[in-house]
Amino acid sequence: MSYSHETKPHAVLIPFPVQGHINPLFKLAKLLHLRGFHITFVNTEYNHKRFLNSKGPNALDGIPGFHFETIPDALPSIDDDDDDVTQDVHSLFDSTRKNFLIPFRNLLARLNNSASDGIIPSLSCLVCDATMTFTIQAAQELGIPIVLLWPASAFSLLTVMHFHTLLHKGVIPLKDESYLTNGYLDTEVNWIPGMQNFRLRDLVDYIRTTDPNDFLVKCHIEIADRVQRASAIVFNTCHELESDALNALSSMFPSLYTIGPFPSLLNQISPQNPLASLGSSLWKEDTECVEWLESKEPRSVVYVNFGSITVMSHEQLLEFAWGLANSKKNFLWIIRPDLVIGGSVILSSEFVNETRDRGLVAKWCQQEKVLNHPSVGGFLTHCGWNSTMESVCAGVPMLCWPFFADQPTNCRYICNEWSIGMEIDNNVKRDEVEKVVNELMVGEEGKKMRQKAMKLKKKVEEDTSVGGSSYKNLEQVIEEVLLKQS
Ligand code: UDP
Repeated sequence: MSYSHETKPHAVLIPFPVQGHINPLFKLAKLLHLRGFHITFVNTEYNHKRFLNSKGPNALDGIPGFHFETIPDALPSIDDDDDDVTQDVHSLFDSTRKNFLIPFRNLLARLNNSASDGIIPSLSCLVCDATMTFTIQAAQELGIPIVLLWPASAFSLLTVMHFHTLLHKGVIPLKDESYLTNGYLDTEVNWIPGMQNFRLRDLVDYIRTTDPNDFLVKCHIEIADRVQRASAIVFNTCHELESDALNALSSMFPSLYTIGPFPSLLNQISPQNPLASLGSSLWKEDTECVEWLESKEPRSVVYVNFGSITVMSHEQLLEFAWGLANSKKNFLWIIRPDLVIGGSVILSSEFVNETRDRGLVAKWCQQEKVLNHPSVGGFLTHCGWNSTMESVCAGVPMLCWPFFADQPTNCRYICNEWSIGMEIDNNVKRDEVEKVVNELMVGEEGKKMRQKAMKLKKKVEEDTSVGGSSYKNLEQVIEEVLLKQS
């Protein structure tokens, strides 16, 4: 759709300021830009500096109508040269709730002034991360629609919507720490509609608390109490992947749209369009990874990446390292400089010599490019929702080592509901890593999982291609909500 300057719709988007929330909202921004929207994408000052550093100052040239603005995150500043950039989710939740509304409101006022001067199109709608509930108030003050993006699985929102029920029934908080290990977490929760086949251990791990005033539980209850006030909620998922959870949620949200998975939906952007190559990484991407993959046989490489927040002990790192080395398979392992708790990453010369011809270690990569490379045959992942969706869209089976938040749910989906992966015990041991890597890459189970992963990829492509449900839902939420005049 093309619009004149006067009639062009203008969407302001703000993510929760961590990589796993920035990426899906950025993808949605691209999809809206493609449909003629003027885009203002709001980063925190800290993240925007990293965003520009990772790309170079000219990265944003050549895309008219796609602009960035910043607001402060009100957190202590971090040394620019410090490699330890992992952001503390607790402090961010605290700060976004307390400190973001005022600068965001001021920014919107400034944008409105520029619009009155005819410099930019008038604000038509907000499209915000669902955890940033202060934005609902900002939209109401301006009298414009607000669409919230839930950046994780629909199931994880279903859990959050039932936190009240879980507290009320005394299921959480746990009576004491022993409940983490005494089998209690294996209790089924099939008394909640949409949660058949799930156990307490499969729900977002915020429930694993003994504290009746747990901060993250409180934050999520606040989110549950507020999200229904938005004009609509959209998900980076589709019915094919999560029909039970979505059916259960649809009775709570009259205006709910599944418009994912985004990686597949974005295939509609032609490679010539400058938007296609515009990424949202906060880390500089290592280009050597893709070149190295070129030298490897089809489906011969295990890709290992634990996302942007997961951390592990040095012992766990060594178990993964020697499991990979002993499997004798090719591997591409992304090790963020801050991956190991309390210290830098040290891999022995023995490991380096042993794996020289078949292993590559890098700091950060273009994950979607890597997952879609024909040499990649499996993904050892922490099961972040974006990584999960990217792997599903690439048809790559997974080895799962969930770390926190919604990752246990995603692991359950991958291993049990979709049968395209295997779980690695939380107390990771090298023998198990060696065994599952071999099973995934050359075993019978791995073969079946690969076939299922390819089938799932095709189904998801049907949902996201022209005429598919996610494709149509995106058109609908634009027409019915974002472009609706109040
Ligand atoms: N990512 C990337 N390169 C890397 C590691 C991660 O591009 O080396 C991207 C990945 O593609 C995904 C996001 O960072 O889009 C991580 O989000 P996810 O939900 O998987 O996990 P989180 O980082 O939030 O734990």
